[in-house]
Parts: sequence; C-alpha cells; structure tokens
Amino acid sequence: MAKPRKRLFIGLLTASSAVVLLFAFLLWWVPSVGLVNIHPVLPVLFGIILGLLTFFVVGGLGMLVLTLLTGRDLFLSQRLRKLVIRYLFPGIISIGRLVGIDRDTLQQSFIALNNQLVRAKKLRVSPDKALILLPHCIQLFDCDIKITGDVSRCIQCGKCDISGLSAAANKRGIDIAVATGGTLARKIIVERRPRFILAVACERDLTSGIRDSYPLPVIGVLNHRPNGPCFNTHIVMDEVEKVLDEFITSES
Ligand code: SF4
Repeated sequence: MAKPRKRLFIGLLTASSAVVLLFAFLLWWVPSVGLVNIHPVLPVLFGIILGLLTFFVVGGLGMLVLTLLTGRDLFLSQRLRKLVIRYLFPGIISIGRLVGIDRDTLQQSFIALNNQLVRAKKLRVSPDKALILLPHCIQLFDCDIKITGDVSRCIQCGKCDISGLSAAANKRGIDIAVATGGTLARKIIVERRPRFILAVACERDLTSGIRDSYPLPVIGVLNHRPNGPCFNTHIVMDEVEKVLDEFITSES
C-alpha cells in the first residue's frame, strides 16, 4: 500500500494528540477556577487524574507514530495495544472525516497502519495455523459452482481469481474460505481458530474485520473493483504470494 496513506495517518495522529492536549488543558483549567473555592487541593487532584488520562491517550498515539516510523513493535502491553486499536482508531477516523478526508482514504490508511503493526510482530506461522479469507465477490458472478463454505469445489477454470488463490492455498497447505459477510467471517474464524489471517476485501469490510478480529493478527489486502463494488472483483496475486512468503513457514 502506498506510503502517503501511512503519512496521512501519522498526520492525523499528531493532530489528534494536539487536540487531546488542548482539550485536557481546557478541561482542567475551566473547572479548576471553581474547584479552588471548594478546596485548594482539588485542582491538583483533578489535574493528576486528567494528566494520567492524557498521558495514556497521547502516549498511545505517540507509540503508534513511533511504531510506524521505526517498523518495530513498541507496544509493551497487549492490553494497551488493544485499547489503542479498538478505541483510538475510530476516534481518529472521525477527526479525519471532520476535516474532510474521504472515508475510503482513511480506511486505506487504517489498513496500511494495521499491516505495519502486524509486520512489526515478525510473526511466522505454520500453514495449518493460517487462513485465507475471501469475499464472495471475487468469484465470477456467472459461475455455477457454489464455493461459499467449500472453496475446494472450485475446478480452477481460471475465469476468476478464486482459481489462483485456491491453487496457492493448496500448494502451501493453507486453509481458505469465502465469507458472504461479517457474521459468516466471524463464524469461520471461531470454528477454524487460525493464528494468522490473510483477509481480502474492500476498505469497509477490512476495517471492520480487522477491528472485530483483534488481537488475532490480520493482514488486509484490498481487492480491485474494475466492475464496481461487490461484483467480479479481482486481486493482485503477487501481493497475496508476498504476504504468504512473509508470514507462513514452509512446513506444518
Ligand atoms: S475459477 Fe472457480 S470459482 Fe472462478 S469461475 Fe472458475 S470454477 Fe468458478
């Protein structure tokens, strides 16, 4: 994914940190004027509580920026990472929307950032612990074979990208599944219990899928939509192969 998308998110993270600091100061300063009349220690206590909260938020944002810049996993705590990904990301997306950045660009940025965070973990899993999760729109609309639920039914005729994806999964011994929506995707994940997922989808589905699946490491690969959304979509096989080479060991 292109670097400018990542830079956009770094810019938003920095702007968000500035907004949080300013907001925290106002939140402390305005009531402090009244609190001091109740007891002179109250503004200090209030300041400490607010300062700790601000430290978490700005510290989390700062660690994200550093992780992005260095390519290393700087999150010492899984819980902190979870809070940042689950709660701070949506807030940043909202700030981006407020300043007029379009949703797809923001979501592409989120996916690029997530992929970098996953890469920073330097993870390698055996093929039997990995899952390739695809949207049904990659299958040729006119294909008569129902592959949802069982991709091995595909006879690899080559008319759509399921062919290449299925061949790559078979060659490496990786589980592959097609989901018609978020609910089915979650069901597949619960049943198959992978340790790593390569997910192909559009910006919206990848963003929600990555957040829902956390802390499971998911690398998101965007599909291409030359025929419009949700219809005969495509994938760049080289992108998929590169991810598999990077994360999957050669034996089970
Ligand atoms: S490659 Fe598989 S899924 Fe795609 S059209 Fe051919 S048989 Fe159908």
